[in-house]
Amino acid sequence: MSFFPEYPPNLSNDNLQSLQELAIDWSLSHGLVIRPPTNLALSNNSSVMHAPISLFPSPFPKKTFYQAIELQPVFNLLFHKLSRNHEFITQVIEEVTKVDDFIDELYKIYLKIKEEGIAQPISLGLHRSDYLLHVPQDASEANVLQVEFNTISSSFSSLSFLTGELHRYLLESTKYFNSSELLKIDSLPLNDAMTSFPKGIAKAHELYGSPNHKIHIIRKTLAEIDQQGKLDPETHALIIDDKEISVTYFRSGYAPELHPTKKEWDARLLIERSKSIKCPTVAYQLVGTKKVQQVLAMPGVLEKYVTNATDAKKLRASFAGLYPLDSSSEGEAAVKLALENPERFVMKPQREGGGNNIYTKDIPPKLLEISTSERSSYILMDLIQPPSMRNIILRQGELVKGEMISELGIYGVFIGNDDVIVNEIGGHLLRTKGRETNEGGVATGFAVIDSPLLV
Ligand code: ADP
Ligand code: MG
Ligand code: MG
Repeated sequence: MSFFPEYPPNLSNDNLQSLQELAIDWSLSHGLVIRPPTNLALSNNSSVMHAPISLFPSPFPKKTFYQAIELQPVFNLLFHKLSRNHEFITQVIEEVTKVDDFIDELYKIYLKIKEEGIAQPISLGLHRSDYLLHVPQDASEANVLQVEFNTISSSFSSLSFLTGELHRYLLESTKYFNSSELLKIDSLPLNDAMTSFPKGIAKAHELYGSPNHKIHIIRKTLAEIDQQGKLDPETHALIIDDKEISVTYFRSGYAPELHPTKKEWDARLLIERSKSIKCPTVAYQLVGTKKVQQVLAMPGVLEKYVTNATDAKKLRASFAGLYPLDSSSEGEAAVKLALENPERFVMKPQREGGGNNIYTKDIPPKLLEISTSERSSYILMDLIQPPSMRNIILRQGELVKGEMISELGIYGVFIGNDDVIVNEIGGHLLRTKGRETNEGGVATGFAVIDSPLLV
């Protein structure tokens, strides 16, 4: 199904070239940039190039956009509660630890801290909940279906804001050559994503009890933290370079390859033991796994943790079909279903960062290759098939036209202990990729950053 057949408008090559030049200049001068791949980079990592972006904002149904936004505070609170529910974490994660070494290492840290006592009751969540649009026969019943909920290293909050600003600039300065009725400034929603995450970190810094002046930021690898970090034996303050660390924000740590040696794991333990406010805690990372998403979708489970019936109903309406692949009777049934109708599904391991999923026809060979116990480290999910639409993307200076699909992300900011201190919506992200591409990552080279044009 193609949404908006008249989109993007047909422009002359001259007009397209003007947009291309303006987009590149604007991106380079406003920091809508990424570091180039090594083969294109100058020495000492000293160059940048424009980020992969769409030339036009992509149409997105207004009603469903706001539906996704409305879900965010409810999801924020749910994941906070789950991260503090020992019984839930134990029940869901323990089975996975037997067949997934990465989750096992995280879980060991979680248990150790549980036993020693938690030094910092406050946690900071900077999340992103991702959705694909689902359009049934009756298009007026379109809704968003959740792809996943990210609790660690949610990316692109600043680039998503900047891409929205780029589209606003192109529209204001060229009117896109008056080429489409849809392209109106009022249809480009404002996006807080540039400021929401830093504000969350600043608030956590304040709650730590830090003096109220400029916040000093240091950036370290996990290996450096292992080498340079220590704990104050009395207060459990995390000390690096003689400075007390108020907030530890992870831009790494979401995948096994980011922990190549024992040093990285020792650093994780050190941080977790400390009094610094962590974004995220290991518990938050564990409840952000796909396994937890699948368990929440089982009958009655979500409703146990979201006690407001209206809220629970709203969240559940955003769940695609999710199935265990373990040795339970549901798991056995799901394996059978996936072997018989693989084209309906995607199979997912407990991994982040893109490029890890197994799609449709590749599922049966994978299921047959791994042992029955190894299946527990995966979940099965209905393949969501959003409508495609055309757009033109700009990547490494070149324009490429094509049939595209978009994935909407909604950012969330949460700070809490026993109480809720901050629970906010933190802006949005739209990523767009070629219809034929399974995976959606921008960093992994599959997708571009876009912005929604509400219709
Ligand atoms: P990761 O944590 O690695 O980003 P995701 O669950 O987001 O894992 O999957 C990666 C990509 O795969 C998504 O961005 C989306 O493009 C695609 N994908 C994931 N789940 C589905 C699904 N149920 N239906 C269709 N595409 C999906
Ligand atoms: Mg993820
Ligand atoms: Mg994802």
